[in-house]
Amino acid sequence: MEPFYTALNAVKVLRSSVGHVFDTLGNGVRADHGEENKDNKFLLELQELLSTVNVNLRELDQAVNSLTPPPGPFNLGNSTYLTQECTLERQALYADLVKSYKWTDKVHEYGNLAVTLFSQNSLKRSYINSSSKRRRMQTSSHNVPPQTVDQVIGNIDRQFSDMSVTIQRPYATNAVLQITLGRILKAMAAFKGLMIEWVVVKGHGETLDLWTESRHKVFRKVTENAHAAMLHFYSPTMPELAVRSFMTWFHSYNTLFSDPCKRCGNHLHSALPPTWRDFRTLEPFHEECKP
Ligand SMILES: [Zn+2]
Repeated sequence: MEPFYTALNAVKVLRSSVGHVFDTLGNGVRADHGEENKDNKFLLELQELLSTVNVNLRELDQAVNSLTPPPGPFNLGNSTYLTQECTLERQALYADLVKSYKWTDKVHEYGNLAVTLFSQNSLKRSYINSSSKRRRMQTSSHNVPPQTVDQVIGNIDRQFSDMSVTIQRPYATNAVLQITLGRILKAMAAFKGLMIEWVVVKGHGETLDLWTESRHKVFRKVTENAHAAMLHFYSPTMPELAVRSFMTWFHSYNTLFSDPCKRCGNHLHSALPPTWRDFRTLEPFHEECKP
């Protein structure tokens, strides 16, 4: 790379000295050449400049000679056909093409990094992850007939008098639950078989859907904790127990606005009620007071 820069620099120096010659030539005889012998002085100056050009040219020659030519023509693939393009606006495509090649390369690189990272993730729950796991996972929580899901959810619905759970199936066989917890909050939970895939918690005045978050901070916080809980309770071998544990945990939010924090004893901390429920004891804690 070093000789290449030297050569480029030599080109720059040569251009500059040639420019100087034409500058001087264009200006002609100047006042600072004086009156006496002014033509001679002018010619001498020009000669000097021209010899500088000569020296610079020789330097460029040397620099170019020390370069090693590339072993063969560059392989440009299909992009070589762009040179045969005669419409002006399409000739500019080459730069865009190079940019998109670079972009694709980057996507490849990031994709590979992401695969490495995700394959280390122990919370991987989807059976489309790798072919080796497919058979084992399919016989567990994903592949459950709708009747079984209905039955499990129905039992949970009957278990808690102040929590109503209704099942919808907007996306073919997989269930989406609409949960109403007293007058405290409502939630939507998307299932894949008997596995909870997604939960959104909202207030009573809000429209309930799977894609938008609540406009209230307290329900956004509960949503976040519900995500942690759905991962915590997830069990591929005992899917029914996992759902039941999650729902029991979720039901403990019926005292969201009435129970004080187990640790500090206050109702509010940073203007929020205790939004965390212990996974085992179901005791309420503020985010900051979590054990
Ligand atoms: Zn607290």
